[in-house]
Amino acid sequence: MTNDTAFTGYADPSLHAKGLYIAGKWEAGTGIPVTDPSSGKTLVEVPDASIEDAMRAVDAAEAAAADWRETSPRERSEILRRWFTLMSEHAEELALLISLENGKALADARGEVTYAAEFFRWYAEEATRIGGEFRHTPSGAHNILVDHEPIGIAVLITPWNFPAAMATRKIGPALAAGCTVILKPASETPLTAYAMARLGEEAGVPPGVVNVLTTTNPGPVTSAMLADPRVRKLSFTGSTGVGRTLLAEAAKTVVYCSMELGGNAPFVVFDDADLSAALDGAMVAKMRNGGEACTAANRFYVQSGIHDAFVKGLTERMSGLKLGAGYDPDTQCGPMITTKAVDKIDRLVSEATSRGARATTGGAPLDGSGYYYPPTVLENVPTDAALAHEEIFGPVAAIYRFDTEEEAIRLANDTEYGLAAYVYSRDIMQAMRVGRGIETGMVGINRGLMSDPAAPFGGAKQSGQGREGGVTGILEFMEPKYFAVEF
Ligand code: NAP
Repeated sequence: MTNDTAFTGYADPSLHAKGLYIAGKWEAGTGIPVTDPSSGKTLVEVPDASIEDAMRAVDAAEAAAADWRETSPRERSEILRRWFTLMSEHAEELALLISLENGKALADARGEVTYAAEFFRWYAEEATRIGGEFRHTPSGAHNILVDHEPIGIAVLITPWNFPAAMATRKIGPALAAGCTVILKPASETPLTAYAMARLGEEAGVPPGVVNVLTTTNPGPVTSAMLADPRVRKLSFTGSTGVGRTLLAEAAKTVVYCSMELGGNAPFVVFDDADLSAALDGAMVAKMRNGGEACTAANRFYVQSGIHDAFVKGLTERMSGLKLGAGYDPDTQCGPMITTKAVDKIDRLVSEATSRGARATTGGAPLDGSGYYYPPTVLENVPTDAALAHEEIFGPVAAIYRFDTEEEAIRLANDTEYGLAAYVYSRDIMQAMRVGRGIETGMVGINRGLMSDPAAPFGGAKQSGQGREGGVTGILEFMEPKYFAVEF
């Protein structure tokens, strides 16, 4: 099934795709080509699961559920901790695999592996701290005891842009809570998910506790699993459009949903900001993963007094980035995931430039093989341009000028999304005031990177429901049970 020569020198063959992973067994197959976005060449094919395969995965998760929920928190914790250690030991191979199938620069892939593994360490710790609640009724006559129970079998669906971290951010808390899971990774990046499942096996995850399916038929396969009354949880990370569809599907059987959806992050820079720090933060917020991040700064609102210096500084930094295959160690910006992604960026940039925006660097796709779009800075962008309202998901920084604080907040909130925002100002009172005024789940104050396993990650408005990570992330996989106790 695997074309090992395609990986020579890039990744440890023992971590290669083994096929569907159901009930602790690997099932070889073909049907889904996995492509290297730097060349457009097929690396390998992985199996295309049917509805029947998915139902076997639900059977496996069900068969393992009773024993897994009865394991001690300490035992679950130690398995997750071993998984963290194994991911750390195999960090370089995992990073190469991510770069190979996703295209991101190795530095970004290494950062992702560290971030991803940390979810296992964090939830190894949280597994032993699941709390309950005890209180008296207001009358003082009765007692209220609240326990948290594992919610049941969870279906986890993840996107291609963080193939390791989006999986561990769900698997970690689910397993810590005592749930068994079926992971459906994105079709573009299944190899990382399979490699991690291999490490999970080695860490001692019992058969059936984690199952992994790849399919070209995600809608019907997911609907079949959600229709099964044994499935009690859907945790989805992906686009807002697919999230809406899945919420409607889950409504039919009233399955609990956690939704981590799209973003359209504003990056607001005030006149008094530390310019160099703002530019550093802008590069991280824009260029982590080549711009293919839900938290990516999509709209730069820069106050008039600092505007020209910011455009100049960002143009210098963006034009200096080295473009190339992600797994080439010198690369700073890899290819986009597909030609479709490049076409979308091209459409958005062309629409903006046809309406008066000016590219100070980049501005058009590159010819040749691979799915490349160069780092681009646009100034003089109309606030109603399409790229102010759609996720660019690429290395394009669109800059808009503003004058007053009220205007910055109004522009920042002019979107259906509400995931992340960034504010740069030396006036911390102003930064916090603006942060409070912006309707998002997360705000970076003088910081261009906010993701942390110990913090609650998630969005407001149509960017999602629920939070992953932090101390509350485990509760997304638990159901409170209230005991009215007389004693
Ligand atoms: P996507 O098209 O929504 O796909 C995400 C996952 O959903 C993939 O596994 C995909 O499978 C699956 N899927 C597609 N249609 C489905 C259906 N009808 N039923 C069930 N599953 C279905 O998103 P993407 O392009 O992979 O990822 C980019 C998006 O994810 C962006 O909008 C980004 O902002 C968002 N994102 C959000 C967060 C967050 O934490 N808020 C984090 C990362 C990414 P296939 O691959 O087989 O199509």
